[in-house]
Amino acid sequence: MSKVLVVANWKMNPPSFQEAKGLFDATRKAVEKYPSSVIVAPPSIYLRELHARYKGRSIRFCAQDVSYDARGAHTGEISLPQAKEAGIVYAIVGHSERRARGETNEDTRKKVAAALAARVTPILCVGEAKRDASGEHLEFIKEALRIGFADVPTAKISSIIVAYEPIWAIGGEEAMKPRDMHEMAIFIRKTLVGLYGEGARSLKILYGGSINESNASDMVRAGDVSGLLVGHVSTDGVRFAALLENLSKQA
Ligand code: PEP
Repeated sequence: MSKVLVVANWKMNPPSFQEAKGLFDATRKAVEKYPSSVIVAPPSIYLRELHARYKGRSIRFCAQDVSYDARGAHTGEISLPQAKEAGIVYAIVGHSERRARGETNEDTRKKVAAALAARVTPILCVGEAKRDASGEHLEFIKEALRIGFADVPTAKISSIIVAYEPIWAIGGEEAMKPRDMHEMAIFIRKTLVGLYGEGARSLKILYGGSINESNASDMVRAGDVSGLLVGHVSTDGVRFAALLENLSKQA
């Protein structure tokens, strides 16, 4: 089995549960054919039923977002206990599309801590909107990591997954260069080790942003990443199968 972790973030797709079942079946068949560690993050309204229908063990389920409150008057929010009961073992935290709607680093700090307390693995997304030669984006990433990890017990540092997702690379067909991702992975690890100790050296780092069937293998080979967070290509069963096939060739 490929050790590469592939997170399929379906975002707010597909538009009907009928289509979600079809997409999940295509994903399941692809995982059976090209054994891989796949984590599916469907819209939360589809989670429970997709999880209940799935009889295998290779695919795990993920929430696209969670509340840091466990219960109460929080209209529209989904709690960790609720999402866990629906089948998740992972939760995306701080996705740029949530941050664009107001989520702050302080929110991610509370969500990461709440997820760990609920025994759910947080996938903390960080990424800058733009970068220039001054290297200001590095300070931006450092701050997102510093705050996002601030309430994590030392013993748990390595259980968090960091997904580096440069916003400027999301949603197209051209990913960041693997060499640049390699540098960023070194920066992320060095930053977290400096802030929170040696435990951070072994945490998993994913890359996300325009990963597709053509560029996934290069990113895994040369980007110093443990896996990939895949958005729009994960909602196309044929392309996602091709992506897993290409990854399986280098496993
Ligand atoms: C994302 O938004 O998390 C993402 C990786 O999207 P895409 O693959 O579509 O760039």
